[in-house]
Amino acid sequence: MIIVMKKGSSEAQVTELMERVRTAGFGVHLSRGEERTIIGVIGGDRRVLADLNLEATAGVERVTPISKPYKLVSRDFHPEDTVIQIGDATVGGTDLWVGAGPCSVEGQELLLETAQLVRQGGAHALRAGAFKPRSSPYSFQGLGETGLQYMAEAREQFGLPLVTEVMDTRDVELVARYADVLQIGTRNMQNFSLLKEVGKSDKPVLLKRGMSATIEEWLMAAEYVMSEGNHNVILCERGIRTFETATRNTLDLSAVVVAKSLTHLPVVVDPSHGVGIRQHVVALARAAVAAGADGVLVEIHQRPDEAKSDAAQTIGPSAYQQMMHEMAAIAEVLGRRLPLASHAHVL
Ligand code: PEP
Ligand code: MN
Repeated sequence: MIIVMKKGSSEAQVTELMERVRTAGFGVHLSRGEERTIIGVIGGDRRVLADLNLEATAGVERVTPISKPYKLVSRDFHPEDTVIQIGDATVGGTDLWVGAGPCSVEGQELLLETAQLVRQGGAHALRAGAFKPRSSPYSFQGLGETGLQYMAEAREQFGLPLVTEVMDTRDVELVARYADVLQIGTRNMQNFSLLKEVGKSDKPVLLKRGMSATIEEWLMAAEYVMSEGNHNVILCERGIRTFETATRNTLDLSAVVVAKSLTHLPVVVDPSHGVGIRQHVVALARAAVAAGADGVLVEIHQRPDEAKSDAAQTIGPSAYQQMMHEMAAIAEVLGRRLPLASHAHVL
């Protein structure tokens, strides 16, 4: 349930109330908006809560039960958009955010070359996988820690924060040592041990939607991360399994609209995995912005045909540049902005 405080309620009233609720065995979450202060109450016994008679407490305007299973994730708990800092850029505010890079780290030179491309095009972060969740155990599995070291070098040279996937609870500490954002892949969205582990990290988490997960399951996965103390979660719609075979996945843009209404967390879109076909990636990045997404995560490569994984959906330099310009134009119509990262220039 949430306790909505009166407009003029005092600091002391808020603190005292929180203390009372906490002492009665509940978790509390404070959200201070420009308009309203809201205290979210988590867990505990409902009858105990009723006995506290919170409605009659000084400073309280109303007490409203929350029927949704997710609490910290919910807009009811935290009406204002959460804005997450990633390096010099933010995700979740007026400004759009773009993470770009190869599907996987393939080698040092190639990564540096792509990082330069990412930088020149104006994206805000370098994405790449060092631990790859491949459908076949015989496919390229990624370079592991060596790949992370190459990524750290790219950050050093081009000033780009790093987004990279962690697949295993045993690797969270290692990956967090290098990454600026920990990516949870679609196949691990309901790996609850992993969610709890990244929930203890101080690095933002980019949580991909499970390919067969409902929006509620996706939000519950975010609740797992937040319930461990890490409130910096970015949701990423990356396409779901449907009957359709003409595309790799079905990019569910309605999920963006719905998720944005249910949660205060930023929602970004991965058009690359979403459609799986190079020639359609830019159109879906445009559509993502039009639908209200807070940014995109996209696979790019200097020579996309040579990419070791996901070549068919990886775009090259000119499509990347086109995508950035078209996203910026659509953002403007919506009163948003796609600030091109500094040093960006026409390729
Ligand atoms: C990726 O981003 O390269 C990736 C493996 O993503 P997903 O988990 O969405 O398939
Ligand atoms: Mn990929």
